[in-house]
Amino acid sequence: MILVTGGAGYIGSHVVIALQQAGYEVLVLDNLCYGHAEFIEPQQLHRIDLEDRLGLDTLFKNHPTIEAVIHMAAFAYVGESVSNPALYYRNNVYGTLCLLEAMVANGVKNLVFSSTCATYGEPDWIPLTEDHPQRPINPYGYTKLVIEQMLRDFDRAYGLRSVAFRYFNAAGADPEGRVGEDHDPETHLIPLVLDVALGRRPQITVFGTDYPTADGTCIRDYIHVADLADAHVLGLKYLQAGGATGAFNLGNGSGFSVRQVIEMVEKVTGQAIPQQLGTRRPGDPAALIGSADRARSILGWNPRYADLESIVTTAWNWHQKRFGLPQSI
Ligand code: UDP
Repeated sequence: MILVTGGAGYIGSHVVIALQQAGYEVLVLDNLCYGHAEFIEPQQLHRIDLEDRLGLDTLFKNHPTIEAVIHMAAFAYVGESVSNPALYYRNNVYGTLCLLEAMVANGVKNLVFSSTCATYGEPDWIPLTEDHPQRPINPYGYTKLVIEQMLRDFDRAYGLRSVAFRYFNAAGADPEGRVGEDHDPETHLIPLVLDVALGRRPQITVFGTDYPTADGTCIRDYIHVADLADAHVLGLKYLQAGGATGAFNLGNGSGFSVRQVIEMVEKVTGQAIPQQLGTRRPGDPAALIGSADRARSILGWNPRYADLESIVTTAWNWHQKRFGLPQSI
């Protein structure tokens, strides 16, 4: 049995589906502060805070067959982490510490952890490889970096082995439309542009058009959430086969500009997207692209939906189902 923390969230709910498809029995821990109860079977869901050590101990004791944890529960709004770092250090770092202590106390020794390319900060080279220096430029990135260090220390001291996945820009939705992206507030580019296509927002603001890129807008490495989910199953199998603690980038190794994303949304939805040209968003590097060669060669990971059109199409199908049909239809 696998415990997935944050399993009612965007990426977590896709991981739960992938695990079940691979034949694993899954339990979800989620306090539902951002997660969606309807993404999860009610009998699977345990509404517990990570900081509730007693609650965690009881969960592990009541389910002695839990063999590994996939830890995805965290706060992830960069701007909020700048204005309220205490919240982020408490929830992400202290919450993870409680989880790790409970795992060690209950003899659970395998962990897959959701880390982020935000641990790298401003890139010295692109595509980023796992040996790139980690110098986060915001508290959110720091919380994830601290946890990566905790994981190495916990391995050395207690034999808790782990895989840290450094995600690039998760996007898209379950190709079968069962779950998808629904953040409140929403800050991510693709769902915001889809909102414009649906008539839920009047326009998209392009954050910066004077970057040193071909069209002047930022380039990001968008990776399909179902491909991320597949990687978690492989990460789990790697640990179960005795694999060593380590970190792996999860990206496509290629990037798309903000303008290219908007154009793809126009193509997929058939809607013209009104744009406002805005100023740069603080802390946004011009380009972030990750090399996932390590995950491909060591884990055998092979993304199935690497093209932007599949990413936007699956996101659009979900978005319409969740938020209504375009007003012009
Ligand atoms: N972006 C934008 N307008 C928006 C939201 C995002 O131009 O309303 C840009 C943002 O500056 C970045 C890219 O889209 O270059 C992806 O941003 P997102 O917030 O989706 O992910 P991030 O790269 O920050 O993790």
